[in-house]
Amino acid sequence: MKLGIVGLPNVGKSTLFNAITQAGAEAANYPFCTIEPNVGVVAVPDYRLDKLAQMYNPEKYTPAVIEFYDIAGLVKGASKGEGLGNKFLSHIREVEAIVHVVRCFEDANIVHVDGSVNPIRDIETINLELIFADMEVLEKRMDKTRKSARSGDRKAQEELEFMERIYKHLEEGKPSRTLDMNDEERELIKQYFLLTSKPVLYAANISEDELINGYEDNKYIKAVEEYAKNEGSEVIPICAKLEEEIASLDGNEKQAFLEDYGLEEPGLNRLIKASYKLLGLISFLTAGPKEVRAWTIKKGTKAPQAAGKIHSDMERGFIRAEVIPFETLINCGSEVSAKEKGLIKSEGKDYVMQDGDVVVFRFNV
Ligand code: GDP
Repeated sequence: MKLGIVGLPNVGKSTLFNAITQAGAEAANYPFCTIEPNVGVVAVPDYRLDKLAQMYNPEKYTPAVIEFYDIAGLVKGASKGEGLGNKFLSHIREVEAIVHVVRCFEDANIVHVDGSVNPIRDIETINLELIFADMEVLEKRMDKTRKSARSGDRKAQEELEFMERIYKHLEEGKPSRTLDMNDEERELIKQYFLLTSKPVLYAANISEDELINGYEDNKYIKAVEEYAKNEGSEVIPICAKLEEEIASLDGNEKQAFLEDYGLEEPGLNRLIKASYKLLGLISFLTAGPKEVRAWTIKKGTKAPQAAGKIHSDMERGFIRAEVIPFETLINCGSEVSAKEKGLIKSEGKDYVMQDGDVVVFRFNV
Protein backbone atom coordinates (compact mmCIF):
# COMPACT_ATOMS: atom_id res chain seq x y z
CA MET A 1 0.00 0.00 0.00
CA LYS A 2 1.71 3.09 -1.23
CA LEU A 3 0.92 6.78 -0.99
CA GLY A 4 2.31 9.29 -3.45
CA ILE A 5 3.58 12.66 -2.31
CA VAL A 6 2.68 15.27 -4.92
CA GLY A 7 2.74 19.04 -5.13
CA LEU A 8 4.20 21.86 -7.18
CA PRO A 9 7.98 22.42 -7.14
CA ASN A 10 9.40 24.24 -4.09
CA VAL A 11 6.52 23.56 -1.72
CA GLY A 12 8.52 21.27 0.56
CA LYS A 13 7.97 17.77 -0.86
CA SER A 14 11.60 16.65 -0.75
CA THR A 15 11.99 18.11 2.72
CA LEU A 16 8.99 16.13 3.90
CA PHE A 17 10.17 13.02 2.09
CA ASN A 18 13.58 13.33 3.75
CA ALA A 19 11.87 13.51 7.12
CA ILE A 20 9.97 10.34 6.24
CA THR A 21 13.01 8.38 5.12
CA GLN A 22 15.03 9.49 8.15
CA ALA A 23 12.26 8.52 10.52
CA GLY A 24 11.86 5.42 8.38
CA ALA A 25 11.71 1.81 9.36
CA GLU A 26 14.52 -0.46 8.26
CA ALA A 27 13.14 -1.48 4.87
CA ALA A 28 15.07 -4.75 4.93
CA ASN A 29 12.78 -6.01 7.74
CA TYR A 30 9.77 -5.63 5.51
CA PRO A 31 10.33 -7.90 2.54
CA PHE A 32 7.07 -6.90 0.85
CA CYS A 33 8.14 -3.27 0.62
CA THR A 34 9.66 -1.72 -2.44
CA ILE A 35 13.26 -0.69 -2.02
CA GLU A 36 13.87 2.25 -4.30
CA PRO A 37 15.49 5.61 -3.61
CA ASN A 38 12.22 7.45 -4.03
CA VAL A 39 10.23 5.16 -1.75
CA GLY A 40 10.27 5.71 2.02
CA VAL A 41 9.09 2.98 4.36
CA VAL A 42 7.86 4.29 7.66
CA ALA A 43 6.46 2.78 10.85
CA VAL A 44 2.89 3.69 11.75
CA PRO A 45 3.04 5.19 15.26
CA ASP A 46 0.77 3.22 17.58
CA TYR A 47 0.67 3.93 21.32
CA ARG A 48 -1.17 0.65 21.84
CA LEU A 49 1.86 -1.28 20.73
CA ASP A 50 4.00 0.64 23.23
CA LYS A 51 1.57 -0.23 26.02
CA LEU A 52 1.58 -3.90 25.03
CA ALA A 53 5.37 -3.88 24.98
CA GLN A 54 5.32 -2.62 28.58
CA MET A 55 2.96 -5.43 29.48
CA TYR A 56 4.78 -8.29 27.77
CA ASN A 57 8.37 -7.09 27.61
CA PRO A 58 8.80 -8.86 24.27
CA GLU A 59 11.97 -9.78 22.40
CA LYS A 60 10.66 -8.16 19.26
CA TYR A 61 8.60 -5.07 18.50
CA THR A 62 7.06 -4.85 15.04
CA PRO A 63 4.89 -1.89 14.05
CA ALA A 64 2.80 -1.65 10.90
CA VAL A 65 4.44 0.22 8.03
CA ILE A 66 3.37 2.20 5.00
CA GLU A 67 5.28 3.38 1.98
CA PHE A 68 5.52 6.90 0.64
CA TYR A 69 6.49 7.47 -2.95
CA ASP A 70 8.14 10.79 -3.77
CA ILE A 71 6.51 11.93 -7.01
CA ALA A 72 8.43 15.09 -7.86
CA GLY A 73 8.15 17.08 -11.03
CA LEU A 74 4.44 17.43 -11.52
CA VAL A 75 4.05 20.81 -13.19
CA LYS A 76 1.54 22.70 -15.26
CA GLY A 77 1.19 20.96 -18.62
CA ALA A 78 2.08 17.51 -17.31
CA SER A 79 -0.99 15.92 -18.87
CA LYS A 80 0.13 17.28 -22.25
CA GLY A 81 3.44 15.52 -21.78
CA GLU A 82 5.31 18.69 -20.93
CA GLY A 83 8.44 18.24 -18.88
CA LEU A 84 8.42 14.65 -17.80
CA GLY A 85 4.71 14.99 -17.26
CA ASN A 86 3.36 11.67 -18.38
CA LYS A 87 5.94 9.77 -16.44
CA PHE A 88 4.78 11.45 -13.25
CA LEU A 89 1.19 10.80 -13.98
CA SER A 90 1.98 7.13 -14.46
CA HIS A 91 3.67 7.13 -11.04
CA ILE A 92 0.49 8.48 -9.52
CA ARG A 93 -1.38 5.63 -11.17
CA GLU A 94 0.65 3.20 -9.06
CA VAL A 95 -0.30 4.60 -5.66
CA GLU A 96 -3.49 3.99 -3.69
CA ALA A 97 -3.75 7.45 -2.16
CA ILE A 98 -2.26 10.90 -2.49
CA VAL A 99 -0.59 13.27 -0.02
CA HIS A 100 -0.78 16.67 -1.66
CA VAL A 101 1.76 19.08 -0.18
CA VAL A 102 0.75 22.74 -0.41
CA ARG A 103 2.82 25.72 0.52
CA CYS A 104 1.24 27.81 3.25
CA PHE A 105 4.42 29.51 4.47
CA GLU A 106 5.79 32.89 3.46
CA ASP A 107 9.51 33.03 2.80
CA ALA A 108 10.89 35.64 0.45
CA ASN A 109 14.02 33.53 -0.06
CA ILE A 110 12.11 30.64 -1.52
CA VAL A 111 10.78 31.27 -4.97
CA HIS A 112 7.27 30.18 -5.79
CA VAL A 113 6.94 28.76 -9.31
CA ASP A 114 3.90 30.95 -9.96
CA GLY A 115 5.24 34.06 -8.29
CA SER A 116 3.20 34.19 -5.09
CA VAL A 117 1.93 32.00 -2.27
CA ASN A 118 -1.58 30.87 -3.15
CA PRO A 119 -2.39 27.32 -2.06
CA ILE A 120 -5.81 27.10 -3.72
CA ARG A 121 -4.37 28.07 -7.09
CA ASP A 122 -1.62 25.48 -6.49
CA ILE A 123 -4.10 22.75 -5.60
CA GLU A 124 -6.16 23.54 -8.68
CA THR A 125 -3.11 23.54 -10.92
CA ILE A 126 -2.24 20.00 -9.88
CA ASN A 127 -5.84 18.81 -9.81
CA LEU A 128 -6.39 20.14 -13.31
CA GLU A 129 -3.51 18.06 -14.66
CA LEU A 130 -4.99 14.96 -13.06
CA ILE A 131 -8.43 15.87 -14.38
CA PHE A 132 -7.06 16.28 -17.94
CA ALA A 133 -5.36 12.92 -17.72
CA ASP A 134 -8.61 11.30 -16.53
CA MET A 135 -10.61 12.90 -19.32
CA GLU A 136 -8.27 11.38 -21.85
CA VAL A 137 -8.59 7.93 -20.31
CA LEU A 138 -12.35 8.28 -20.16
CA GLU A 139 -12.63 9.45 -23.77
CA LYS A 140 -10.95 6.28 -24.97
CA ARG A 141 -13.23 4.10 -22.85
CA MET A 142 -16.30 5.99 -23.97
CA ASP A 143 -15.41 5.42 -27.62
CA LYS A 144 -15.33 1.68 -27.04
CA THR A 145 -18.47 1.60 -24.92
CA ARG A 146 -20.31 3.76 -27.44
CA LYS A 147 -19.81 1.09 -30.08
CA SER A 148 -21.33 -1.60 -27.87
CA ALA A 149 -24.12 0.75 -26.85
CA ARG A 150 -25.01 1.40 -30.49
CA SER A 151 -25.29 -2.30 -31.17
CA GLY A 152 -28.06 -2.40 -28.57
CA ASP A 153 -26.15 -3.58 -25.49
CA ARG A 154 -28.29 -2.27 -22.61
CA LYS A 155 -25.55 -2.54 -20.03
CA ALA A 156 -23.18 -0.60 -22.24
CA GLN A 157 -25.82 2.10 -22.69
CA GLU A 158 -26.16 2.48 -18.94
CA GLU A 159 -22.44 2.53 -18.47
CA LEU A 160 -22.03 5.12 -21.17
CA GLU A 161 -24.48 7.38 -19.37
CA PHE A 162 -22.48 7.00 -16.18
CA MET A 163 -19.25 7.79 -18.00
CA GLU A 164 -20.80 10.87 -19.53
CA ARG A 165 -21.80 12.01 -16.07
CA ILE A 166 -18.23 11.59 -14.81
CA TYR A 167 -16.88 13.36 -17.87
CA LYS A 168 -19.14 16.33 -17.35
CA HIS A 169 -18.09 16.52 -13.70
CA LEU A 170 -14.43 16.53 -14.77
CA GLU A 171 -15.16 19.18 -17.38
CA GLU A 172 -16.43 21.37 -14.57
CA GLY A 173 -12.99 21.08 -13.01
CA LYS A 174 -14.06 18.68 -10.26
CA PRO A 175 -12.23 15.48 -9.30
CA SER A 176 -14.19 12.26 -9.84
CA ARG A 177 -14.01 11.40 -6.12
CA THR A 178 -16.51 14.18 -5.44
CA LEU A 179 -19.18 12.84 -7.81
CA ASP A 180 -22.40 11.57 -6.21
CA MET A 181 -22.48 7.83 -6.81
CA ASN A 182 -24.45 4.80 -5.69
CA ASP A 183 -22.70 1.65 -4.50
CA GLU A 184 -22.85 0.01 -7.90
CA GLU A 185 -21.31 3.06 -9.58
CA ARG A 186 -18.67 3.22 -6.90
CA GLU A 187 -17.62 -0.32 -7.85
CA LEU A 188 -17.76 0.45 -11.54
CA ILE A 189 -15.59 3.54 -11.39
CA LYS A 190 -12.80 1.55 -9.73
CA GLN A 191 -12.33 -0.27 -13.03
CA TYR A 192 -11.46 2.99 -14.79
CA PHE A 193 -8.40 3.62 -12.59
CA LEU A 194 -8.94 7.36 -12.59
CA LEU A 195 -6.31 9.49 -10.87
CA THR A 196 -8.90 11.83 -9.40
CA SER A 197 -10.70 8.89 -7.77
CA LYS A 198 -7.82 8.34 -5.38
CA PRO A 199 -8.35 9.62 -1.86
CA VAL A 200 -6.34 12.72 -1.00
CA LEU A 201 -5.12 14.46 2.08
CA TYR A 202 -3.55 17.87 2.08
CA ALA A 203 -0.32 18.46 3.98
CA ALA A 204 -0.29 22.19 4.60
CA ASN A 205 3.33 23.22 4.95
CA ILE A 206 3.42 26.06 7.48
CA SER A 207 6.29 27.95 9.08
CA GLU A 208 8.12 26.73 12.15
CA ASP A 209 6.88 29.71 14.07
CA GLU A 210 3.24 29.02 13.27
CA LEU A 211 3.49 25.36 14.09
CA ILE A 212 4.75 26.23 17.55
CA ASN A 213 2.74 29.36 18.31
CA GLY A 214 -0.47 28.52 16.49
CA TYR A 215 -1.62 29.06 12.95
CA GLU A 216 -5.01 30.64 13.64
CA ASP A 217 -4.00 33.73 11.69
CA ASN A 218 -2.68 31.87 8.68
CA LYS A 219 -5.16 32.75 5.93
CA TYR A 220 -3.63 30.20 3.55
CA ILE A 221 -4.34 27.25 5.76
CA LYS A 222 -7.88 28.51 6.36
CA ALA A 223 -8.43 28.55 2.61
CA VAL A 224 -7.06 25.02 2.26
CA GLU A 225 -9.27 23.78 5.09
CA GLU A 226 -12.33 25.30 3.46
CA TYR A 227 -11.43 23.75 0.11
CA ALA A 228 -10.74 20.34 1.62
CA LYS A 229 -13.97 20.38 3.59
CA ASN A 230 -15.95 20.86 0.40
CA GLU A 231 -14.50 17.71 -1.09
CA GLY A 232 -14.47 15.73 2.16
CA SER A 233 -10.69 15.59 2.49
CA GLU A 234 -8.52 16.10 5.54
CA VAL A 235 -5.83 18.75 6.11
CA ILE A 236 -2.76 18.04 8.22
CA PRO A 237 -0.69 21.09 9.14
CA ILE A 238 2.98 20.31 9.13
CA CYS A 239 6.29 22.14 9.09
CA ALA A 240 8.41 20.09 6.74
CA LYS A 241 11.63 21.82 7.72
CA LEU A 242 11.08 21.21 11.42
CA GLU A 243 10.06 17.60 10.75
CA GLU A 244 13.29 17.03 8.89
CA GLU A 245 15.19 18.33 11.91
CA ILE A 246 13.18 16.24 14.37
CA ALA A 247 13.56 13.09 12.29
CA SER A 248 17.35 13.42 12.33
CA LEU A 249 17.43 13.25 16.15
CA ASP A 250 17.60 10.02 18.14
CA GLY A 251 15.17 8.95 20.88
CA ASN A 252 16.17 11.08 23.88
CA GLU A 253 17.19 14.11 21.86
CA LYS A 254 13.92 13.94 20.02
CA GLN A 255 11.91 13.86 23.23
CA ALA A 256 13.83 16.85 24.63
CA PHE A 257 13.39 18.77 21.38
CA LEU A 258 9.62 18.17 21.33
CA GLU A 259 9.32 19.24 24.96
CA ASP A 260 11.35 22.38 24.32
CA TYR A 261 8.95 23.33 21.59
CA GLY A 262 5.89 22.29 23.57
CA LEU A 263 4.90 19.68 20.99
CA GLU A 264 3.20 16.44 21.96
CA GLU A 265 4.41 14.44 19.01
CA PRO A 266 6.07 15.09 15.66
CA GLY A 267 3.64 16.38 13.04
CA LEU A 268 4.90 13.57 10.88
CA ASN A 269 3.23 11.08 13.23
CA ARG A 270 -0.13 12.73 12.63
CA LEU A 271 0.48 12.69 8.91
CA ILE A 272 1.40 9.00 8.93
CA LYS A 273 -1.63 8.04 11.01
CA ALA A 274 -3.93 10.05 8.77
CA SER A 275 -2.35 8.41 5.71
CA TYR A 276 -2.99 4.94 7.12
CA LYS A 277 -6.62 5.85 7.64
CA LEU A 278 -6.83 7.39 4.19
CA LEU A 279 -5.81 4.03 2.72
CA GLY A 280 -8.71 2.42 4.57
CA LEU A 281 -6.36 0.43 6.77
CA ILE A 282 -6.65 -0.68 10.38
CA SER A 283 -4.40 -2.76 12.65
CA PHE A 284 -5.05 -5.83 14.71
CA LEU A 285 -2.47 -6.70 17.33
CA THR A 286 -0.75 -9.83 18.53
CA ALA A 287 1.11 -9.84 21.81
CA GLY A 288 3.29 -12.24 23.75
CA PRO A 289 6.77 -12.53 25.25
CA LYS A 290 8.29 -13.23 21.82
CA GLU A 291 6.79 -10.36 19.89
CA VAL A 292 4.25 -7.59 19.99
CA ARG A 293 3.12 -6.74 16.53
CA ALA A 294 0.63 -4.69 14.55
CA TRP A 295 -0.83 -6.34 11.44
CA THR A 296 -2.30 -4.32 8.65
CA ILE A 297 -5.70 -5.19 7.21
CA LYS A 298 -8.34 -3.39 5.19
CA LYS A 299 -11.28 -2.16 7.22
CA GLY A 300 -14.01 -4.79 7.00
CA THR A 301 -11.68 -7.82 6.87
CA LYS A 302 -13.05 -10.97 8.53
CA ALA A 303 -11.20 -13.08 11.06
CA PRO A 304 -9.97 -15.93 8.77
CA GLN A 305 -8.54 -13.49 6.20
CA ALA A 306 -6.88 -11.54 8.99
CA ALA A 307 -5.34 -14.79 10.23
CA GLY A 308 -4.11 -15.34 6.68
CA LYS A 309 -1.99 -12.22 7.01
CA ILE A 310 0.06 -14.03 9.62
CA HIS A 311 0.21 -17.35 7.78
CA SER A 312 -1.82 -18.94 5.00
CA ASP A 313 -2.13 -22.14 7.14
CA MET A 314 -3.95 -20.10 9.75
CA GLU A 315 -6.56 -19.06 7.24
CA ARG A 316 -6.96 -22.51 5.75
CA GLY A 317 -7.27 -24.25 9.11
CA PHE A 318 -9.09 -21.42 10.88
CA ILE A 319 -11.14 -22.56 13.89
CA ARG A 320 -11.77 -19.38 15.87
CA ALA A 321 -10.28 -16.09 17.00
CA GLU A 322 -9.88 -15.20 20.65
CA VAL A 323 -10.35 -11.48 20.71
CA ILE A 324 -10.14 -8.67 23.23
CA PRO A 325 -10.24 -4.96 22.41
CA PHE A 326 -6.97 -3.26 23.35
CA GLU A 327 -8.57 -0.86 25.86
CA THR A 328 -10.33 -3.71 27.68
CA LEU A 329 -7.08 -5.64 27.98
CA ILE A 330 -5.22 -2.63 29.34
CA ASN A 331 -7.98 -1.91 31.85
CA CYS A 332 -7.71 -5.49 33.12
CA GLY A 333 -3.99 -5.09 33.63
CA SER A 334 -3.10 -8.51 32.26
CA GLU A 335 -4.24 -11.28 29.95
CA VAL A 336 -4.80 -13.62 32.90
CA SER A 337 -7.10 -11.16 34.62
CA ALA A 338 -9.00 -10.53 31.36
CA LYS A 339 -9.48 -14.27 30.96
CA GLU A 340 -10.74 -14.65 34.55
CA LYS A 341 -13.28 -11.92 33.95
CA GLY A 342 -14.41 -13.68 30.79
CA LEU A 343 -13.57 -10.68 28.64
CA ILE A 344 -11.71 -12.56 25.93
CA LYS A 345 -14.37 -13.39 23.35
CA SER A 346 -14.38 -16.38 21.07
CA GLU A 347 -15.26 -15.30 17.52
CA GLY A 348 -16.04 -17.35 14.43
CA LYS A 349 -15.33 -17.04 10.72
CA ASP A 350 -17.83 -14.22 10.15
CA TYR A 351 -16.35 -11.91 12.74
CA VAL A 352 -15.33 -8.56 11.26
CA MET A 353 -12.01 -7.47 12.75
CA GLN A 354 -11.92 -4.17 14.62
CA ASP A 355 -9.06 -1.72 14.86
CA GLY A 356 -7.02 -2.49 17.98
CA ASP A 357 -8.29 -6.05 18.51
CA VAL A 358 -5.71 -8.10 20.38
CA VAL A 359 -6.01 -11.59 18.93
CA VAL A 360 -4.96 -15.21 19.22
CA PHE A 361 -6.03 -17.39 16.29
CA ARG A 362 -6.82 -21.08 16.83
CA PHE A 363 -6.36 -23.25 13.76
CA ASN A 364 -5.92 -26.84 12.56
CA VAL A 365 -2.65 -27.75 10.98
P1 GDP B 1 10.04 20.50 -3.41
O1 GDP B 1 10.51 21.10 -4.68
O2 GDP B 1 8.56 20.59 -3.25
O3 GDP B 1 10.57 19.15 -3.15
O4 GDP B 1 10.57 21.49 -2.24
P2 GDP B 1 11.81 21.33 -1.26
O5 GDP B 1 11.51 20.34 -0.20
O6 GDP B 1 13.06 21.14 -2.05
O7 GDP B 1 11.79 22.76 -0.59
C1 GDP B 1 12.01 23.94 -1.34
C2 GDP B 1 12.65 24.96 -0.45
O8 GDP B 1 11.73 25.33 0.58
C3 GDP B 1 13.90 24.45 0.25
O9 GDP B 1 14.85 25.50 0.26
C4 GDP B 1 13.41 24.12 1.64
O10 GDP B 1 14.43 24.28 2.61
C5 GDP B 1 12.32 25.15 1.85
N1 GDP B 1 11.30 24.68 2.78
C6 GDP B 1 10.69 23.47 2.82
N2 GDP B 1 9.81 23.41 3.84
C7 GDP B 1 9.87 24.60 4.46
C8 GDP B 1 9.19 25.15 5.58
O11 GDP B 1 8.40 24.50 6.24
N3 GDP B 1 9.51 26.47 5.89
C9 GDP B 1 10.41 27.19 5.19
N4 GDP B 1 10.65 28.44 5.55
N5 GDP B 1 11.07 26.70 4.15
C10 GDP B 1 10.81 25.42 3.78
